[in-house]
Amino acid sequence: MKCSTMTDTSEDAVLLELKLQLSNIEKKLDEVLDLQKKQLLRTRSFIPTTIASLPEHLKRTATIIAAVGDSTAEQIAEKTGRARAAESDYLNQLADRGLLIKERVGRAVHFKPLNLYTECPNCRAIVLPALKSCAYCGSKL
Ligand SMILES: [Zn+2]
Repeated sequence: MKCSTMTDTSEDAVLLELKLQLSNIEKKLDEVLDLQKKQLLRTRSFIPTTIASLPEHLKRTATIIAAVGDSTAEQIAEKTGRARAAESDYLNQLADRGLLIKERVGRAVHFKPLNLYTECPNCRAIVLPALKSCAYCGSKL
């Protein structure tokens, strides 16, 4: 009799311990899920920096470099018909926003599209304009 009571008590103790540990794990899982949610929100708010959300003067520069790729301010200025100094300023602004990579090649400064997205006019997907047609629905961009 004494023995079984002892066993019951120790089993209760083990159960209690397990319950405590489980609730600790549950708390930690909630924390992890919370963190993950916050991180997802952060990534999401970063990605949709679309060309459409840029001010008009930067939009033109961004659209052109997205289509032609690696360019200098001079090459972009030839396409937009605007002053080289102005294009250089716009390209630097786009680079500051993390949309272009700026690289010095010899004496020339080259800009490469990096996080330059556009919104498909048909399905509203966020896509790379360099593709020329939407990767999701095939519409022309
Ligand atoms: Zn589409």
